[in-house]
Amino acid sequence: MRSSRLALIAGLVIGSLGLPDAASQRSPPARYDVLITHGTVIDGSGARPVRGDVAIRDGRIVAVGSLANATAAEVIDAAGLMVAPGFIDVHTHADDIGDTPRAENFVRMGVTSVVAGNCGGSALDIGEALTKIRQAGIAINYATLIGHNTVRRAVMGTANRDPTISELTKMKSLVWRAMADGAVGFSTGLQYVPGTYAKSAEILELARVAGNAGGLYASHMRNEGTELESAVQETIRVGEMAMCRVQISHLKVDSPKNWGASVRALSLIDAARARGIDVQADQYAYTAASSSLGIRFPAWVLEGGQDAIAKRLNDPDQWARIKSEMRDLLSERGISDLSFAVVASYRPDPSLNGLSMKQVAARLRGSDSADAQLDAAKAMMLAGGASMVYHLMSEDDVNRIMRHPQVGIASDSSVLTMGESVPHPRGYGNNARVLGAYVRARHVIPIEEAIRKMTSLPAEHFKFERRGLVKAGYAGDLTVFDASAVADAATFEKPHAYAAGIPYVLVNGVVVVRKGEQTDALPGQVLKSSPPK
Ligand SMILES: [Zn+2]
Repeated sequence: MRSSRLALIAGLVIGSLGLPDAASQRSPPARYDVLITHGTVIDGSGARPVRGDVAIRDGRIVAVGSLANATAAEVIDAAGLMVAPGFIDVHTHADDIGDTPRAENFVRMGVTSVVAGNCGGSALDIGEALTKIRQAGIAINYATLIGHNTVRRAVMGTANRDPTISELTKMKSLVWRAMADGAVGFSTGLQYVPGTYAKSAEILELARVAGNAGGLYASHMRNEGTELESAVQETIRVGEMAMCRVQISHLKVDSPKNWGASVRALSLIDAARARGIDVQADQYAYTAASSSLGIRFPAWVLEGGQDAIAKRLNDPDQWARIKSEMRDLLSERGISDLSFAVVASYRPDPSLNGLSMKQVAARLRGSDSADAQLDAAKAMMLAGGASMVYHLMSEDDVNRIMRHPQVGIASDSSVLTMGESVPHPRGYGNNARVLGAYVRARHVIPIEEAIRKMTSLPAEHFKFERRGLVKAGYAGDLTVFDASAVADAATFEKPHAYAAGIPYVLVNGVVVVRKGEQTDALPGQVLKSSPPK
């Protein structure tokens, strides 16, 4: 098995060396831009790791195998290290990467490509946004979806109703333009305002526009806990009727009462795939989620902007009703208060960052009762809301989802700035955590499978041509890591810590991490999906 694989690699090497240098039998040893020697290649296909050198020229991998006589402008000694394709993170909120082009939290965990515009939120003018990013220069490759919430808000504000024919036509034309301008698909965030007010028929119409343009449909589903199955069914149905690929975003079970429902969610994905619908999912490797504080309130409360929200919350009768609905929403999930909720970022009073709502209630209301927690949440909503971390998942579900072959690894993170706010640690640690905690420590999946989930699986689904494999002809996106040391360092308490054990990262053949330090290089490109064949 191994020797036939080596023979195959040798064949590839000879083949690729043969292209430019065949003119002369006595040509000097091949010279490359970068040569990564003595490493163990995990090629991203799911194949077992094999010893091999990797040569890069003009931004692309040009040879893989035994390259003992080759020379290069830069030689990286990867003895004892793994050489993998750069990680592709298809579920991010890196929409503001133009303002923080080094994207160090992603780069340092081995991510070389991100997809933004998820959960229904993106730039409205994709062409303008991509031009700005190209001009700014970025360290990693970038692609974006067009967000449903963005489009709906532009046309209908936060109205809680169906669109008129003319509004739907306007939304379709915005999605069409975004696709023409380079979006790779259409995303929804059906737990958020205003997407939560949209019915399936509206989503289907818009997803079909993206599908016709070769894009996929990515969904932060309507429900991720108590009604997980019907949410998965809705998502698959949209993809089936719109005839487009489907990406279920951050698949999880976020209600203790429904823990174990991942079995049924994954079997729905299997059944859909058996019918020929190209459904995949992604996940982050944590048992806590990150979202807005508003998501804990009934959707009707959030309609019409901050003034309308304040009016409802400040009306004693309405507040009594809201509070009782919030209690119902919690008890449906099998929980009785907000102690699972931790403040990530609360602008009006950053001293609350890092505290659970139980602690916040004690601080603000002098009591940590469930009632005081809801009152504290109301006070924070009145001051503009907060972003939160929610501890609601089980390790069993996370493991089961990770073992499914059609689930990729994605962080759900934005571009972070060292020291700012208390974000979810996944933004610094997700890929490294999979390799350290889930592969090395707990043996949940083998290393080559983890790498496949971070590379070729998402590359193929998003149609990023010639990315996601260590293979001649593919882009020079590479992550070099120490399998015995790679680990996440970011925690919920101290999230601002770069991942460990990733000494080299290359993007389009340019070194962006060297000996564990990020360089100033900005070799990232804007990625598009390859057109339908
Ligand atoms: Zn989301």
